[in-house]
Amino acid sequence: MAKAPSRPKILIVGAGPCGLTAALELARLGYHPRIIDKAPGPTPLSKAVGINPRSLEILDASGVTERLLAQGIRMQGVQARYEGRLLAEIQVRRLPHRFNFMLALPQSETETVMEDVLVSLGVRPEWNVELTEIRLAGGKVEADLKGAHGGTFDYVFGADGAHSRVREVLNLGFSGYTHKRIWSIADAVIPDWPFPEATAMANLHRNGDMGFIIPIGPKRFRAVSNTPEPLAHLPGVESAQVSQSDTFHIPVRQADSYQTGGVFLGGDAAHVHSPIGARGMNLGIEDAFVFVRRLSEGTLDGYTSERHPVGRRWILLSERLLGVVQSSNPLVIGVRNLAMRTVNNLPGLQQPMMERVAGLKN
Ligand SMILES: Cc1cc2nc3c(=O)[nH]c(=O)nc-3n(C[C@H](O)[C@H](O)[C@H](O)COP(=O)(O)OP(=O)(O)OC[C@H]3O[C@@H](n4cnc5c(N)ncnc54)[C@H](O)[C@@H]3O)c2cc1C
Repeated sequence: MAKAPSRPKILIVGAGPCGLTAALELARLGYHPRIIDKAPGPTPLSKAVGINPRSLEILDASGVTERLLAQGIRMQGVQARYEGRLLAEIQVRRLPHRFNFMLALPQSETETVMEDVLVSLGVRPEWNVELTEIRLAGGKVEADLKGAHGGTFDYVFGADGAHSRVREVLNLGFSGYTHKRIWSIADAVIPDWPFPEATAMANLHRNGDMGFIIPIGPKRFRAVSNTPEPLAHLPGVESAQVSQSDTFHIPVRQADSYQTGGVFLGGDAAHVHSPIGARGMNLGIEDAFVFVRRLSEGTLDGYTSERHPVGRRWILLSERLLGVVQSSNPLVIGVRNLAMRTVNNLPGLQQPMMERVAGLKN
């Protein structure tokens, strides 16, 4: 009897949303990857809170989406305000798609669901296991690990985040810059929030300050600002109980190549950019999906040429959006606000941007 062809040995470094997606897709197709993470378990932080329609589509096949939908909030609208006054409501519900909403759910809950489903498919993440070294040798990849035995693999998928060790040991450049402006983020209960609950809101100011808010649970919200005070730039917040808060600078960087030998990068290891448009985690989920599709088709050579331009285009667009929303130039503000009011009155004009944010058009 002919011997069944052996499956490639695959190591996924990082069990964040990108690495977990790669593991889920591989497991669904009958591969048995190892997936390691130096952390003790899924992130306890809420981090990315917007799951877009393309990610929901990708995660549907493994059964993850059904469980996310049961836990998340279906955000069908995003309001843009200027000094508290409504400029436009982007009606995500008008997207011609079965998932015509952004699903709001803290990343900690998303990762926990993904891990549960992965375990049910027979792959258990190895927590507290760190990748320390990688060597390319004879068409294979040797990996040294701390906390478990390493070995030789056919492919390594580096989904180990913005400070990727995989990218570092292979000397893959990560070109870009970091914005000087201090941003802030908070999760808070706002008992008397006066606006529709399943709607996100951006409130822009004439001096370029901005506040953004996303619902993440009953009376619970994620607030982000391009100032050190996450809640100060939102209308209607009389009182709030803050549970987590932090400040950060926005890095804008992209790996020069997403692959070398049998090693591939995805997610924040490959690209980082501003949270405007909520595409960060979602782009990584797409990278992982494409990596697995190409691996199963035997077309991994084309991985960088497919995914690098997508990351590039999004970085350029999110930088342009960032410049426009935080402008203090009266001329730019006038044109921007007029454009937003026009888009509000002609909802058909909202479609191209919504499709980009939704991940349905790259
Ligand atoms: C406070 C905060 C708020 C954010 N808010 C948003 C938001 O609102 N919207 C948005 O789109 N994005 C947001 N992000 C970014 C978003 O969280 C990331 O884009 C997303 O997590 C990237 O997923 P990933 O799987 O590529 O990487 P990560 O989630 O960073 O996962 C990488 C994993 O690799 C592991 N790892 C690292 N090095 C090693 C090693 N050597 N060996 C083994 N394991 C290793 C880490 O422990 C980690 O679990 C936020 C991030 C933070 C920190």
